[in-house]
Amino acid sequence: MRSVALVVALALTQSPAATPVPPVPRVIADGTYLIPGAMLPDRGPDGNTVVFMAPAGLVVVDTGRHLWHSDAILAFAAARRQPIGAIVNTHWHLDHSSGNQRLKAAHPDARVYTTNAVDRALAPGGFIARSLASARAQAPDPKAPPTRGEETALFLRTMETPQALRPEVAIAATGAQRLAGRALSVHVADDAVTDADLWIYDEATRVAVIGDLVTLPAPFFETACPARWQAALDAVWATPFTLVVPGHGAPMTREAFDTYRRAFAAFRSCVGSDRAPAACAAGWTTGVEALLASDGDRKQATGYAAYYVEFLRTNGGASPDCRVKQPAPARLR
Ligand SMILES: [Zn+2]
Repeated sequence: MRSVALVVALALTQSPAATPVPPVPRVIADGTYLIPGAMLPDRGPDGNTVVFMAPAGLVVVDTGRHLWHSDAILAFAAARRQPIGAIVNTHWHLDHSSGNQRLKAAHPDARVYTTNAVDRALAPGGFIARSLASARAQAPDPKAPPTRGEETALFLRTMETPQALRPEVAIAATGAQRLAGRALSVHVADDAVTDADLWIYDEATRVAVIGDLVTLPAPFFETACPARWQAALDAVWATPFTLVVPGHGAPMTREAFDTYRRAFAAFRSCVGSDRAPAACAAGWTTGVEALLASDGDRKQATGYAAYYVEFLRTNGGASPDCRVKQPAPARLR
């Protein structure tokens, strides 16, 4: 057990990290706003939030992880004197859904629309259940930055109400939905980033909101099935969208999205070959070169890609949490 003196000394030397400022919403299309996520040093990421203005309030797509992110969503609703009528989670990853609980507490009539995929992640042996067990077993590390402890505390607090991550309206199949009175086309991608992801296409504005089907500097394969993920990118491409909002990073044009889609297919094909991990990683970075802003981004892109080559090869071409066997990569149409 740690002595009182040590705890006091730690309290004196480790002042809590400054709270980041909430993200600033900006309009991206008629009646459509982006509340941008962020990736801050030594913290888990926040995914992007998109807000659609609807006849019966706001449709909020993804709710972030940190309090300052959900604060920005709540402030947006308060400033416009609008209730949140619907919460959509593109997928259950906690950087997209941790804010559900706070939004529901302030807007009890908001209904959560997502797939049932979170149930397997929460069940014993599932991805979230395993993460929770390891977070609880983790001994505090006095050398770790104070943000690390804050991130773990936030995760544990989120897991006090896992019910808030579950759908109130489970979406199982692609189709037209009326969310808070606004017509939106809601697509289900099975076995892509998770067991089942949602993405939205809005015919009125030609905006697509696709969650982590696109993330930069690299795709995050932790829970993924790459084959159907690639098929989901093709399905997004088949809609006449003019702007696509990824799970992380700035909104993209069709051209930028296609650059990503092609680099994804090439990376998957490289993973399925016997080429060296460094070659696949370099290929990824070259493929998305036009989408990366800095040398730092390029370095990170290569680092992530090299890691995921090994991760995917070790597990038969997919995450160990993927339920479906991966077919060989097909040629891109
Ligand atoms: Zn994410």
